Amino acid sequence: MTPLRLAVVGAGVSGLSAARELVRASREAGIPARVTVFEAEDRVGGRVLSADVRGQRIDLGAESMLVRDPSTLETLSSLGLDEELVRPGTTSASIWSARRLVPIPKGTSLGVPLHPLQPEVVRLLGPRGSLRASLEPWLRGPTVTADDPLGPFLVGRLGRLAVSRLVDPLLGGVYAGPAELLSVGAVAPHLLAALGRDRSLLRGLRQQPPPTPGAVTGFVSLRSGLQTLAEKLADGLDPSALRLRTPVTGAWPGRSGLMRVESGGGSEEFDGLVLALPAPPAAQLLEGLAPELSRELRRQRYSNVATVTLVYPESAVRRRPPGSGFLVPRFPGRVVTACTFMDQKWPHLRKPGILLLRASAGGHGDDWPLEVDDATLVTSVHTHLRRHLGLRLVPLEARVQRWAPALPQYRAGHLAWRDSVDAQVAALPYPVVLAGAAYRGVGMEACMRDGVRAAQALWQRLGTAAPLNSRGQEGDGHP
Ligand SMILES: Cc1cc2nc3c(=O)[nH]c(=O)nc-3n(C[C@H](O)[C@H](O)[C@H](O)COP(=O)(O)OP(=O)(O)OC[C@H]3O[C@@H](n4cnc5c(N)ncnc54)[C@H](O)[C@@H]3O)c2cc1C
Repeated sequence: MTPLRLAVVGAGVSGLSAARELVRASREAGIPARVTVFEAEDRVGGRVLSADVRGQRIDLGAESMLVRDPSTLETLSSLGLDEELVRPGTTSASIWSARRLVPIPKGTSLGVPLHPLQPEVVRLLGPRGSLRASLEPWLRGPTVTADDPLGPFLVGRLGRLAVSRLVDPLLGGVYAGPAELLSVGAVAPHLLAALGRDRSLLRGLRQQPPPTPGAVTGFVSLRSGLQTLAEKLADGLDPSALRLRTPVTGAWPGRSGLMRVESGGGSEEFDGLVLALPAPPAAQLLEGLAPELSRELRRQRYSNVATVTLVYPESAVRRRPPGSGFLVPRFPGRVVTACTFMDQKWPHLRKPGILLLRASAGGHGDDWPLEVDDATLVTSVHTHLRRHLGLRLVPLEARVQRWAPALPQYRAGHLAWRDSVDAQVAALPYPVVLAGAAYRGVGMEACMRDGVRAAQALWQRLGTAAPLNSRGQEGDGHP
């Protein structure tokens, strides 16, 4: 039997999960398939990158994975990562407010304070802001539909201060985008669920069922860095079929229903293709093949981000700040948007005499970190951290990583956009499917799930029905 020739373009966690699922499905169905993965860079992982910084393996992109689905842990386990798995030493973060770090109040849901008159909330919002938010159950606030922007809805319900001082910084930490733009249903479906339970958002959120006791969900990372996950996913592939440093430059119809893929390595034909890319390069590859879909994909916007990892002598601070890090609300001239105390969040990174910080800069509409050189970026970040944390010494070492495009912006209308993309992909007369952070969740877990979903869609499209792995059958995933 001639093996099916399948190609995945992009070796981020979406593409690698798709490739792994294609290999699994072919084995299970007894249908031989050769899965080739094309990757432009010289490594796998995409936005997941671990590197050595002063003798430690540090994540410069995604640094923690929020696991909501127990089958994600099963996947990690099946990849032999049980011993590698680490959980955070602390997850309590703060917000930079009025020149000090204020702990994020317990009982907030994506920044929405369930009990606005709690003293911790009053510290952040002030008495007027807290009082305004606490009136939500009695005021006739705006209603919302799934694809509306989150910002105006929450401002109408809770007041401006709750959004700018709590919701916005938390959303920024995940999406690097502002509440006023992002789609409620795409980034905060649990708020819609709360409104389904009660006319009041706060009452509805308070009725949210508690997590199942003993649930294995929560944040995890890997001792040797999250890139190990990508490497383990890639280990299951035939080494000769993983083409690093091979950007795909074109995708065209080939002979008798096949797809022709052009890359630095020449032109090859495949029975099916998964494009596991950010929307802009996916749009570029589809320009000739599916111009309308390509135009649709170009509508997806991205934020750009830089991470700056800084190693200080521990004596740079009089006392270590508490918790896992802090978020900074938007204000003119903001430099650092968030800072993770890496060796407090991840105890395995703790080293005597060392303070390990990772700052983020940039985000929606704020590309300055891409426009300045490394030295300027490090100096600016250090200057601001000095102010935030009272640092008395300069860093021993700094490592800059720029991400462009970094994170897709699920703007209002995202759900309709995604439906339109899905419908156009389904109607393509070619065996091509799309996967990745652009569509059904930006978090690593959602991306892995989307890779599996896309692989199964391609497999079915090729008419090679194999038993489905349950992971890919689920609905939308969000980080
Ligand atoms: C700074 C930062 C911090 C983050 N933190 C977290 C976090 O803590 N937790 C979390 O869950 N998520 C986090 N995320 C989000 C998460 O890392 C990403 O959404 C996810 O890794 C995206 O995976 P992907 O496979 O869809 O895309 P990508 O990782 O972007 O992979 C796409 C791949 O395609 C390749 N490629 C592009 N064009 C071509 C071409 N023409 N030919 C061949 N290959 C090509 C790229 O080189 C890349 O390797 C973070 C993201 C960033 C940027």
